[in-house]
Amino acid sequence: MTIRLRTLRSAVLATAGLLVLESCSVNPATGQRQLAMMSEAQEVETGRQADREISAAYGLYDDPELQAYVERVGLAIARQTERPNLPWQIRVVDDPVVNAFALPGGFLYVTRGILGHFNSEAELASVLGHEIGHVTGRHSVEQMSKAQLASVGFGVAMIASEGMRRFGDLAQLGLNLLFLKFSRTHEKEADDLGLRYLVNAGYDPRPMLDVFTTLDRVSAAAGAGRLPNWLSTHPNPEDRGRRLAAQIAQLPAERQTTGRVERDPYLRRLEGLVFGENPRDGFFVENRFYHPEMAFQLTMPAGWQQENQRQAVISLRPENDAAVILTLAAEGSPQEAARAFFSQQGIERGNAWRTNFHHFRTAPAVDAAGQAQQQLRGIVGFVSHQGRVLRLLGMSVAERWPQAERELAAALASFGPLTDRRYLDVQPARIRLVALDRPTTLAELARREGATADLQQLAILNGIAPETPLAAGRLVKLVHGGELPGGARPAGSR
Ligand SMILES: [Zn+2]
Repeated sequence: MTIRLRTLRSAVLATAGLLVLESCSVNPATGQRQLAMMSEAQEVETGRQADREISAAYGLYDDPELQAYVERVGLAIARQTERPNLPWQIRVVDDPVVNAFALPGGFLYVTRGILGHFNSEAELASVLGHEIGHVTGRHSVEQMSKAQLASVGFGVAMIASEGMRRFGDLAQLGLNLLFLKFSRTHEKEADDLGLRYLVNAGYDPRPMLDVFTTLDRVSAAAGAGRLPNWLSTHPNPEDRGRRLAAQIAQLPAERQTTGRVERDPYLRRLEGLVFGENPRDGFFVENRFYHPEMAFQLTMPAGWQQENQRQAVISLRPENDAAVILTLAAEGSPQEAARAFFSQQGIERGNAWRTNFHHFRTAPAVDAAGQAQQQLRGIVGFVSHQGRVLRLLGMSVAERWPQAERELAAALASFGPLTDRRYLDVQPARIRLVALDRPTTLAELARREGATADLQQLAILNGIAPETPLAAGRLVKLVHGGELPGGARPAGSR
């Protein structure tokens, strides 16, 4: 809920505009001739713009020491590549999703979600090496010319403009779309480059295989249809794992086994890391939404699909024909925000519903493909709350409006301040490291210590099975805290 969508959209569109220029060059990392869509200066500038938006949209994880550490590990690898002089930036984004991604020009991101799942510095280095490979291979430069970019622009534009025609897309809106998919060829190339960089940086390459196993387990545990994670943008973990294992086996023997792993020093850096969704950024208990940081609450229609995204809280009727969307307005007052909203083309202002709330309808229109857009009706309101202006939007397709109006109005009217300490004071779950004082298993340890993540999740986090015998002295990750009022449990990693 911190993003200014209009800014993001213009950045994405500006980026698209840059892609018209084409030239052909030989890539220094891969030795391949490439259609380079832009010069290095343009590449860096494109990355820098998108970086600002991503950093603002996700928020960086608030732990300067961890940020500096991840940056050190990444830079040490990046400086040994064929493109040592890019303005490399490596950032930890405040997101529970298990993911890592790269932008043109050397901007790399790892989520706090993926950091929590690594069990050594070598594992972190292997993922950074892979993402660095996408940059040195200039994959993102080629990539950003493709259809995904259009869909990013479209997705963001949809939520920014009220003239959206399909509610169905709402559920998957937002920055998840920015996880650009690379082609299989590019993934293999990034794996190859990443392995070379990892070994050159003095790491043991074998933990790279453990990363594949872990990500595979995360993906399996999340089940189908969940939000994207690293695996959905990096398909085929098993094949890639097998391929890499074969490559590692061909390395000189001493390079296979004598590199650095840095298990315990890495794990100790995870002490206190926020795990799973952070309820301070807002959470649902059934259909009631609480936002402790911004101290407001709201009841969405019962039985609708609820989604708390960083830039919007969304409630969607399962039939995809009505939605409530709460966002921050960029303007300084409700009046200015309303003016800006109604100055958009295609939106007709209707009667006032209550102070600063108005009915509206969208004008009949056709999209770029000449398809008639569905007409929408709704109520939009702007409220000033603790120095911010929030936009509350309830809308449905025009045919649904007679039934939807009452439910939507009730949701908007339920907005109010949050004053209950039990909700205001919720804290996220955090990773805690335990050094075993005797041989045990994870199952036994979790029972004894009363961890708040389930055993399966803990097993994935630690890269072991619940019943794997663990020797005394071993460091084990547990998860503590994060309980919500009324005994609800925090959501885990996605
Ligand atoms: Zn990749």
